[in-house]
Amino acid sequence: MKFTYHDYKKFLRFAKKETNITSFEKSNGKNGILLRHDVDFYPTFAHDMFKIEKELNVTSTYFFLTTAQTYNPNSLLSKRIITEISESGFEIGLHFTVLPYEKEKVITERILWEVAVLESIIQKPITNICSHNTREETCNIYFPEFINISNNNNVFISDSRMDFKEIDLYKIIDISKTELVQVIIHPLYWADKERTFNDIINKFQESMLEWADRELWRTNSFINKRCRKFKEKKIDQGINFNT
Ligand SMILES: [Zn+2]
Repeated sequence: MKFTYHDYKKFLRFAKKETNITSFEKSNGKNGILLRHDVDFYPTFAHDMFKIEKELNVTSTYFFLTTAQTYNPNSLLSKRIITEISESGFEIGLHFTVLPYEKEKVITERILWEVAVLESIIQKPITNICSHNTREETCNIYFPEFINISNNNNVFISDSRMDFKEIDLYKIIDISKTELVQVIIHPLYWADKERTFNDIINKFQESMLEWADRELWRTNSFINKRCRKFKEKKIDQGINFNT
C-alpha cells in the first residue's frame, strides 16, 4: 500500500463494505475499525484527509495537540479546521504529551486545561484522549473524566514513520468483524503522490517558511504605517528626526 490518497480511498471504499469504520465516540464497543488520526504537525494535512473521509461517508476521530511546536489550535486557520471537522459529525479528541510538564506532578490538572482549550473551540465536550508518545506514562494513567484510548486493549495498527510494521491493512478488516481494531493514520504522511519521509519534512519546512514570510510582511506593513504616522505628527510638532 502506498501512502497516497488514491490508495487510502481504495482501502476505505473496500473496508466500509466489509466492516464498520467509526470514530471512537460512535463505536458500538464490540467490533469494527476505530479510525484514529493523530495531528502531530499541521492541521492542513488533517483537513485534506477529513475531506476524503467526508466524501466517502466515513467518520473518524482527530486528536489534536495543544502543545505542538508547529501549530496552535487557537490560530485562525486551526480553529476553522477543527470546527469544520467537528461540525461535520467527526470526533475531536485531545492528543496529549507530558513533555511540557516534565517537572510537574499534577498531570490530570494539565489535561483538564488542555481539554478546555479544545472544548472552547468546538463548543462540545471532549470524551477521548490519547498519548502522543506511546512510551509516556500517561498511556497507562486512568482519568475518571475521560476515556484514555492509549490504554485500552484494542488490536492496534499504526503508520508511524510511514511503516505499518509488516501488517497488511487489508488483513485487519477480517479481524475487525469480530473485535475492535484501532487504526492510526497520521495525515502528514499521505498526499496525492507518494513521497519519502524527507520529502514530507522538506515540504513542511517550505510551507512554514512561506507562512512566516507572509506573517512578517503583514505585521511589518502595519508597524510601518504606525511609525510613519507617528513621525509625521512629530515633524508637524517641530521635531527634526534628521541627525
Ligand atoms: Zn502524536
